[in-house]
Amino acid sequence: MKIQNQILLAVVLGLVVGLLLNLFQAPAEIHGVLGWIGKLFIRMLKMVTVPLIVASLIVGVISLKTTDKLKAIGLKTLCYYLATTAIAVVIGLAVVNLIQPGVGVENFAEIEGEMPVFERKPIGDMILEFVPVNIFSALVDMQFIPIILFSLVIGLILTALKTKGKPIADLFVALNAVMLKLVDWIMLLAPIGVFALLSSIVAKLGFSIFVTLGKYVIAVLSGLTLHAVVILPLILFFFAKRSPLAYLKNMFPALSTAFSTASSAATLPVTMECAEKEGKVSKESAGFVLPLGATMNMDGTAMYEAVAAVFIAQVYGIALTFGDQMIIVLTATLSSIGAAAVPSAGLVTMAIVLKAVGLPLEGIALVVGVDRVLDMCRTTINVWGDSIGAAVVDFQMGKK
Ligand code: ASP
Repeated sequence: MKIQNQILLAVVLGLVVGLLLNLFQAPAEIHGVLGWIGKLFIRMLKMVTVPLIVASLIVGVISLKTTDKLKAIGLKTLCYYLATTAIAVVIGLAVVNLIQPGVGVENFAEIEGEMPVFERKPIGDMILEFVPVNIFSALVDMQFIPIILFSLVIGLILTALKTKGKPIADLFVALNAVMLKLVDWIMLLAPIGVFALLSSIVAKLGFSIFVTLGKYVIAVLSGLTLHAVVILPLILFFFAKRSPLAYLKNMFPALSTAFSTASSAATLPVTMECAEKEGKVSKESAGFVLPLGATMNMDGTAMYEAVAAVFIAQVYGIALTFGDQMIIVLTATLSSIGAAAVPSAGLVTMAIVLKAVGLPLEGIALVVGVDRVLDMCRTTINVWGDSIGAAVVDFQMGKK
């Protein structure tokens, strides 16, 4: 059976088994074992993420050969990221204003969850941290933005040095190949990992999650669905001249890994594997667009933050002007760029959006309860957006 089909089966089985476990209140040991297997799978993915980002970005930049080409791909990638993220936020705002999930919600206490911990840093400090004092500790701590910047610069230097830097360049080319092989092997376990993760999450959450905050969940999900099945496929069709359905099939293992892990970073190895091998996106485009996209391009997260902000305003009975909503477009787009590609990151950066329009941060407690499910969905859209970006940029680069 092809890996895509195996994973599809794993998703279906994971959902069904999870629901059954929840319904029959299965003993905690079963959840424990499933959760453990899932964690093992996530650890394996995370293990390859940092070396893969470094090697693929350096190799990506080197293989472009000229700074002109780099400028072209950089510009196209950035345009794609910003445009699609802003479109996502606007869709989110339209949906939440239409559905008005927060109007009429009165029983705060019933839905309030635990507030996430915020680490509020001035913007100057955040920028300082982009430059690591010690690149090795940045690698150890998985600080993606410093790692990305460092790798891009090293790639540029190796390109400029030409033959002098060749031994090191070759080293990264080899490292990249080794990491991709490792991903191949880990992928053999993906069906088991996806099944274990999904069944343990569903066993824990059950149906109840959809009942509380139902309208809010519906608002987020309809926005995400609209973006994923209409807007992004249209972009793929018109700007990469590809069949969205065929590409969806190519990327399915990555999307289900995103759904079950709720982390774009952990999914990155699978995303790269699918885009290159199945989706036939060139190595240079995939190696450049995907690692950057995993951390910077989060359509789902941006949309989610906008919907959540307006929902919170509605619950508190605070009216938002058109100007406020424009500020939400801007801050949700920016804060999704700043959000780490790990579970629940969007929940934390949402504080930026709320603060910008003067909404109470305590409002976040209202949406914490359903965050996990929505995180899974928005991460899937984040990865779908990255994947389409890789195909679009690849096609546009090929035209030149
Ligand atoms: N979990 C998301 C991701 O990794 C980020 C978020 O929390 O929205 O893409």
